[in-house]
Amino acid sequence: MRAVVLTGDAVALEKERARPTPREGEVVVRVLRAGACETDLQLIRGYMGFNGVLGHEFVGVPEEGPYAGQRVVGEINCSCRACPTCLAGRPTHCPSRMTLGIVNHDGVFADFVAVPQHNLHLVPETVVTDAAVFTEPLAAAFQIPEQLFLARTDRVVVLGDGRLGNLCAQVLAGICDPLLVVGKHPDKLALLDALGIETALLNDLPADHLADVVVDCTGSDTGLPTALKLVRPRGTIVLKTTVAGTQRMPWAPVVIDEVTIVGSRCGPFDRALEALAAGSISVLPMISERFDLSHGLAALAAAQRPGVLKVLIDVGGDQ
Ligand SMILES: [Zn+2]
Ligand SMILES: [Zn+2]
Repeated sequence: MRAVVLTGDAVALEKERARPTPREGEVVVRVLRAGACETDLQLIRGYMGFNGVLGHEFVGVPEEGPYAGQRVVGEINCSCRACPTCLAGRPTHCPSRMTLGIVNHDGVFADFVAVPQHNLHLVPETVVTDAAVFTEPLAAAFQIPEQLFLARTDRVVVLGDGRLGNLCAQVLAGICDPLLVVGKHPDKLALLDALGIETALLNDLPADHLADVVVDCTGSDTGLPTALKLVRPRGTIVLKTTVAGTQRMPWAPVVIDEVTIVGSRCGPFDRALEALAAGSISVLPMISERFDLSHGLAALAAAQRPGVLKVLIDVGGDQ
């Protein structure tokens, strides 16, 4: 099969890689569509030291198991489901977990991927395949209200107008008012303007320390220092950004202003699929470019270009 494989810091398209052998509890899924994500780009820069098939956002069709022949999306954390952490209801933090395309498990930029059956969710018929590719990052956005009590009147600022910033803004705009998205790209902010969400350019922003909640979706080590200029004393910063390497910054403002910092990662797939089926989140305008898997390297290059929001990879024939 074809696969986009990371070895060290080199990415290559393999044309005759062996099909994955499913581990216990896993089924082989034929990939229809995949999405390139900031995490893929960070992995290529050395984040997590991953080697193997890249990619974790996908829609596919299982070859076997109870969902065989139907479209599915898959949660990315492959947990043991037996350790104290898993039994306590925190499987996404299982210490022996593997993560599709990120930690010790081949990913989805390939014709086939093996995924634990338990991780799969059926895609509602009304959700088109291109939209369903956004389930994983949209679930990550829905993780914020799972972690934080948000009042209707909370002032929320989302930093970052990229893929995840857009999704977090749409999810939180359904809960809080006022909400402001701060970015650097007028064309990306325009997508949010069109949805009636207030936006501002980073350079126009006063360091006013007024926001109750600031969500960092910048994908940059400048996100947290910027968030500290915007959050109010005793406010909350939600970190969605994972940066390869070490971040250095003065921490005294966190203490002085008694700021709560919440790390936030993977979220509930069921809520994301419900929102896509209800049409309450707009994702298709985010698709900037698409490539066949045979041009997977060009897809990853395109995903790094400024101005590009979401790059999709067409893997298998649609259904
Ligand atoms: Zn991702
Ligand atoms: Zn476990």
